Amino acid sequence: MPMAGTIIDGMAMLGERSLEVLNPATGGLAGTIAVADAAAVEAAVASAKAAFLAWSQTTDAERCAAVLACADLLDHHAEELARILTAEQGKPLNGMGSRFELGGAAAWTRHTAGLKLPVEFVQDDADAHIAIHRKPLGVVASITPWNWPLMIAIWHVMPAIRTGNTVVLKPSPYTPLSTLRMVELLQNALPPGVLNVVAGSDEIGPLLTSHPDVAKICFTGSCNTGRRVMASAAPTLKRLTLELGGNDAGIVLADADPKAIAEGLFWGAFVNNGQTCAALKRLFVHDAIYEAVCDELVAYAATIKTGAGTDEDSLLGPIQNRMQFDKVTRLVDEAAAAGARILNGGAPSGGDGLFYPVTLVANAMPGMSLVDEEQFGPALPIIRYSDIDTAIDQANAVDVGLGGSIWSSDIPRARDLAMRLECGTAWVNKHGGIRPDTPFGGVKASGFGVEFGQHGLEEFVSLHVIHD
Ligand code: NAD
Repeated sequence: MPMAGTIIDGMAMLGERSLEVLNPATGGLAGTIAVADAAAVEAAVASAKAAFLAWSQTTDAERCAAVLACADLLDHHAEELARILTAEQGKPLNGMGSRFELGGAAAWTRHTAGLKLPVEFVQDDADAHIAIHRKPLGVVASITPWNWPLMIAIWHVMPAIRTGNTVVLKPSPYTPLSTLRMVELLQNALPPGVLNVVAGSDEIGPLLTSHPDVAKICFTGSCNTGRRVMASAAPTLKRLTLELGGNDAGIVLADADPKAIAEGLFWGAFVNNGQTCAALKRLFVHDAIYEAVCDELVAYAATIKTGAGTDEDSLLGPIQNRMQFDKVTRLVDEAAAAGARILNGGAPSGGDGLFYPVTLVANAMPGMSLVDEEQFGPALPIIRYSDIDTAIDQANAVDVGLGGSIWSSDIPRARDLAMRLECGTAWVNKHGGIRPDTPFGGVKASGFGVEFGQHGLEEFVSLHVIHD
């Protein structure tokens, strides 16, 4: 019996067509869903539109309580959801894997419950009274990728409903199972229609992004799909938050301590097997310590086990899907053919699962596809430089700009250099850390709009100014 691919008005519904969801660790089946079709998308948007009438009129305290109840449900069912996530996504239960993702989802939900958008007064005296109110937008469509499917859904859904909007969520066809179960559980905390889900193939995305009754789209995914989403939303002038791809550079200065930074560099790059938007994807290392940094990274990598996510000692799992697996294989092969030095790994592990070992690639250079394209997998190109201005120019010479980092023992200098990186977030002596109280978003082709905290909440409301 397939799992329902649609939850509308609080009720699970079976579609006629089914979709098989594969377990990337085994190549076997993680589950089957009866997918949503065009009629289901229509019904989901209609349900969200109808629910908006009452939900947008609830008090701030009522919505805060509902979001807190969602956080409790996520905590209560964390292990169940983590196991579904590992089966379909591949990431390990342990380390920065599924349990970590569920912990993050609950933490973000709880933080969002506590955020407020009070009425602001520009002037409030005998001469004038000017008040700025925030109003919810209406139906929000949330479209999510397969790398951090639950956390990213929470990043879209919770600020939307916290501010009085209603939602239709569309998960990636690679990882719909955990999202469907999560939405089913969250129905216990929300009135019917406030959070609906339609799971199916990519084809249902455009039905949502062009729908006249959708007011805003939160899209997290690739740059190319982001462009399609923006074009599709243009005729109805929808609000957009686009969190797209990245090709983050990390720059290690000559004064950094290779041993001290190896662990941070490794996890900056290989968190979730490199399948993370703001992972470190191009590592620039000063000539003076280049070999030492390579040696320390290889030594650290040797201590990390890649294996089935259900093994408690695995810290990295398989690549999530065949397309991504083939891409990583191609990029590493092309780098080797172009003269790069493969320090470890370098070829698929073999077997039924989509396992590819951690691969560090020395003597990489801009112009190699592994450097110029977003690899989104467990292969890190390491580029040698001797002039910092050239390194900064090369770091900025891509069309995307999500994150970046500078690694140095001279913090003031590192901060100054971080300011020169063209990206939404730059870190010093770390890479990729995010927090629910700090805005996160991209520049250039990495998208626009931010998520998290007060700035992120503002993206779900319009200003309504009253002069009297
Ligand atoms: P993708 O663009 O292939 O798919 C993302 C979602 O869009 C899926 O749900 C898919 O079904 C849907 N979709 C596909 N075609 C559509 C269309 N025409 N209209 C509407 N929706 C459509 O991306 P992916 O491969 O799932 O995710 C990986 C990418 O996401 C990487 O580039 C990564 O960097 C990026 N990403 C960015 C962030 C961020 O915060 N900036 C976070 C995570 C992932």
